[in-house]
Parts: sequence; structure tokens; C-alpha cells
Amino acid sequence: MKTQNKMEDTCGPVWVIAEQVDCRILTVSLQLVGQARRLADELETTVEVVILGYRMQAQSHQLLAAGADRVYLGDAPDLSSYEPEIYTEIMVKLAELRRPDIILIGSTSTGRELAPLIAGRLETGLTAHCIDLVLDENKNLEQRVPAYGGLLSIICPERRPQMATVAKGVFPMPELDESRTGEIVPLDVPHETPRRIQTLEIVREEPRGVPLESASTVVAGGAGAGDLEGWRMIADLAKAFNAALGSTRPAVDEGWTGLETMIGQSGKMVSPELYVGVGLSGELQHMVGIVGAKVMVAINNDPKSPVFEQVDYGIVDDCREFIPVFIEKIKEYQEVLVAC
Ligand SMILES: Cc1cc2nc3c(=O)[nH]c(=O)nc-3n(C[C@H](O)[C@H](O)[C@H](O)COP(=O)(O)OP(=O)(O)OC[C@H]3O[C@@H](n4cnc5c(N)ncnc54)[C@H](O)[C@@H]3O)c2cc1C
Repeated sequence: MKTQNKMEDTCGPVWVIAEQVDCRILTVSLQLVGQARRLADELETTVEVVILGYRMQAQSHQLLAAGADRVYLGDAPDLSSYEPEIYTEIMVKLAELRRPDIILIGSTSTGRELAPLIAGRLETGLTAHCIDLVLDENKNLEQRVPAYGGLLSIICPERRPQMATVAKGVFPMPELDESRTGEIVPLDVPHETPRRIQTLEIVREEPRGVPLESASTVVAGGAGAGDLEGWRMIADLAKAFNAALGSTRPAVDEGWTGLETMIGQSGKMVSPELYVGVGLSGELQHMVGIVGAKVMVAINNDPKSPVFEQVDYGIVDDCREFIPVFIEKIKEYQEVLVAC
């Protein structure tokens, strides 16, 4: 059936494709259900959530508590972890049947792959890494992303569903109302789906250092580090603060650090008590990731850098000269604290 992408008079449900890891529903999925509820109320339609996994029956009620009216649950051993071809096949078939108006997916490593696979099959548009979702006067979904130094609103007026991915922490966690009721509809899962890719084993990377998302202090470095040696100085500053180490995209592109440290539109959202940005220019794509920070400090050698307009305290200096002195001062302060 290829009529899914045509606009129709009546509005289909708002969908969330939820994710689980080891039977735990991801926070971003619950946050998206909260937003789906808001959009569905404005559109006067329903919220439907699709989740695939194994032994997920009990946890699925959380999705109703977060605001879903109906949960489609594919429960089978083969679905316990993400399998691109099977997951896409099931979602596409169900979308062709249910004709959602909107599909929201988390910008997780799985969501970033699954969303374009589904959008391609449904021949519709997809906006990645949205930082806001609103309805315009024609009830089209305005998908807002940082671009060209500002916020760009993207709509998909002629195709359905309208698809967007959103990172964890962009939207707040909805209040879970355990008294909410709704339907949990078991999905007929194919016993054998021909596939070219098969997961043989999942090896989880051990988390290193303080996790970014829950850190109370974050030190983030950017292109101004200059080279690996400069980057190590920024990492040492993070250690001195007992902070999580974050980064901008150029630091990842240079290979100084891993993608898991990237903060921003296509990285992680952080909300520390203290954020220290070193050698970075304050581009919106990075700064949207730290809107939850309480106190912000920037170290930059260019007094005219736009980052200084966005932070509480600015230090104009070459980070390579400033960091060693700064670390010494932090150590002295810590020694005084211990002595007290
Ligand atoms: C679709 C899209 C998504 C993106 N998503 C993200 C994202 O999630 N996260 C992200 O970070 N970026 C993202 N980007 C990239 C983003 O637009 C910027 O390019 C990036 O954030 C800039 O990184 P930067 O500030 O480290 O580098 P630059 O902009 O090059 O700034 C480097 C700064 O370092 C300063 N400096 C240089 N030398 C020194 C020194 N010795 N001491 C002190 N300061 C010094 C300079 O004055 C300058 O201000 C995205 C871009 C696109 C198009």
C-alpha cells in the first residue's frame, strides 16, 4: 500500500516509536510521549506508541501513564534488541495501516538509523535533531532546528506522516499518571523475516569518567584546543574539577575525543550546575545542548567571540596558558577545603 504519504482530510494519530534497552523504556521515549500528547490534544486526535522488545508487557503501562491512548507491542525473543530490517518492516506495515499524521523518534543511535529507514519506505520527509515542535496555523508540524545562526522551522506540507527525531532532554519528562488507562494491542510478529543483517552479540562500552547527562560540572572543549596536546589540557581541567568532559563537533571530527562527548543539537543535552566552555565559539548548535546549565563560564582568546555574550563569566586568554594556572588554583583551593 503506497497511499500513506498522501494528505488526507482527517488527521491520523500522533505516533511515538518508543525504544527499550534491556526491557527499560528510554527516558527520551517517555519525553516524546508527553509531547505527542500535547500535539494530539491540539489536533484532536490520539497518541499511539509502538514498541518492540521481549517481555515488555509490564513496562508498556508506563507509556499509557505518560500519555498514550494505545500501545502497539511487538513482543518476541527476536525483537529483544534492535534489528534494523525487522524493526523497519514491522513499523512500516503498521504505519501503512494506522496512517499516523506525525511520527516522533528519539535521536538515539537506534532512532537515527531507524527513522530514515522508515521515512524512505513511506516516501515522506524527516527532520533530524529537532529542538522544538509546534503546529502552524494549518496544523502542519513546525519542526524547529538550529541552522544559519538561528532557528529554522521546517514543515512537510504535502506528505504524511511528518517525521522528526528529538534528543533526550530537549523536552521535559511528563508526569506519569498511573491511573490513566488505554489499550495495549499485541502485534502479530512475523516468525521469520528474511534479513541481511543479524545481531550476534551486544558488547556494551564501559562508561568512562563522570557521565555527561547527570554531571553537576561539565568542562567542554572546542576547536580552540588546537591539537591533541591542547585537548589533553582541557581533559586535565575536567579531571581537576571532577567534571564530565564535553566537546563541540570539531573536537570529535579532529579525533581528539569520541562522539559520546559531543554536546548540542546532534549530541547530548546537559544541565550542570557549572559549565566551563574552553576554546569554543558559542555556535547555536552547541549552545542548545547547555540551556539547562545554571552558571556558564567561557575561556576564549578572542575578546569578540560570540560565546562571551551567552555566558555569565568570560575569561579572555589563550587556553594553553590559562589552564595550567587554573588547575594549580583549583588544587590549592581543594587543599584549603580539606584542611578546613
Ligand atoms: C546540522 C548541524 C548539527 C550540528 N550539531 C552540533 C552539535 O550537536 N554540537 C556541536 O558542538 N556542534 C554542532 N554542529 C557544528 C556547529 O555548527 C559549530 O561548527 C561548532 O559547534 C563549532 O565548534 P567550536 O566552537 O569548537 O569551533 P569554532 O567555531 O571554530 O570556535 C573555536 C573557538 O576557539 C577559540 N580559540 C582558538 N584558539 C584558542 C586558544 N588558544 N585559546 C582559547 N580559545 C581559542 C576561537 O576564538 C574560537 O572562538 C552542527 C552543525 C550542523 C550543520
